[in-house]
Formats: sequence, structure tokens, C-alpha cells
Amino acid sequence: MKHLLGSFLLVASLIAAPMPAAAQSARPAGVTDDQLFGTVVRESKWLTMPISVCWENPGADDQQYRAITRSAVEETWERYSSVRFTGWGACVNDAPGIHVRIAEEGPHTKALGRYLDQMPAGTVLNFTFKDWSPGCQKTKDFCVYAIAAHEFGHALGFAHEQNREDAPQQCRDENKQGTTGDYNVTKYDPNSIMNYCNPQWNGDGKLSPLDIEAVRKFYGN
Ligand SMILES: [Zn+2]
Repeated sequence: MKHLLGSFLLVASLIAAPMPAAAQSARPAGVTDDQLFGTVVRESKWLTMPISVCWENPGADDQQYRAITRSAVEETWERYSSVRFTGWGACVNDAPGIHVRIAEEGPHTKALGRYLDQMPAGTVLNFTFKDWSPGCQKTKDFCVYAIAAHEFGHALGFAHEQNREDAPQQCRDENKQGTTGDYNVTKYDPNSIMNYCNPQWNGDGKLSPLDIEAVRKFYGN
């Protein structure tokens, strides 16, 4: 488990590349300084449902893992909120929504929420674990599931929970990574699937009660 976590954190530096300048500076009207830092980037919220998802490079031999990815999303974010994803076919040029690339690298998203719209390889998932986190080869179904649930949290606009200003200082110092949210949806959640300081790796692939509260507040029941 320690090895797994170590590998995850090592590659975590890739997980949230810098946001586009426009996204970084977006602050909605009425949000005051004391509301800055939080769980989501508010302006990254998708404005319409369902959100289209497509695969850039689906292969015959990874159908099983694409199905696990879809189940992970259905049984977490979709199950507890009005969030809906659709499509899940092969990408065509300029297809709307989230473009997922399957690659032997650290799973990550290149932006949050709707800033991923139509972005090539905006979300990258690993189904082989040959180089990145080889420990996952023994528990591949679980790793694919738990990582997919986490990355689709980013795809909905959720930032890393440990980045919050009210996270424990040691947790922030050791794990702050990627874009920091600009709006507090709920109180700080040590058990969030989006929190690297969660004692359960990737939240064990499950949303915490506060994750559920957050996605319901952000997107509706
Ligand atoms: Zn992440």
C-alpha cells in the first residue's frame, strides 16, 4: 500500500497541469476573499447535462477497463447527483465533452471541469500499469476503478481537497498539488476521494459523505 501510494504521489505532479490563464483568473461575482480556496473551481462547472465522453484510442483488448471506468463514474458521481455522462464511443474530431486517452503514464486531467471541453487528451487513464504504479497490476480492476472515480472528480471541477487553506498544514505542505479550488462547497473533508491525505488510497474508490454533499450542492440532486 505504501508503495502504491508512493507511486501515486510521485506521478501526482502531472495530475493537474496549469490551468489556462482565463480559467485561473476567473472569479465569479459575489465571491469574497474568505471564500477563496476550496473544493471546486466554480466557473469550471459544466452548464448542461449530460456531459459527453469519448475515447481517443480505444482498443479491443481494453474494453474491460473502459467498462470499469464507466461503472466507477456511474456508481459514484452519477449515483448521488444529477451529473450524467453520455457517449463513451470513439472520439471524432472536435467531438464535444471529455476526451480520454489511454496511455502508460500517470493518470491526470489537464484542466478542471468544463475547461476540458474538446481538449485533446484532456483526461489520461492508465490501463496497463507497466511503468507507472506496477503494484496496480495485481489489483488492476480496483486501481482502474478508484483512479477513474478520482479523475472524473477533476472532470467535474473538483480540485484537490488537500490544497485547501483549512487543510492541516502538514498535509498541505507535503501534498499540495495542481489547481486550488476557489469556492468552498463543504467543510474540509479528510476522507474526500479528492484528498491525497485520505488514509484510504483514492478514497478506496468511494465518495465520502461530504463528497456526496459537495456534488449535490454543486450540480444538484
Ligand atoms: Zn487528482
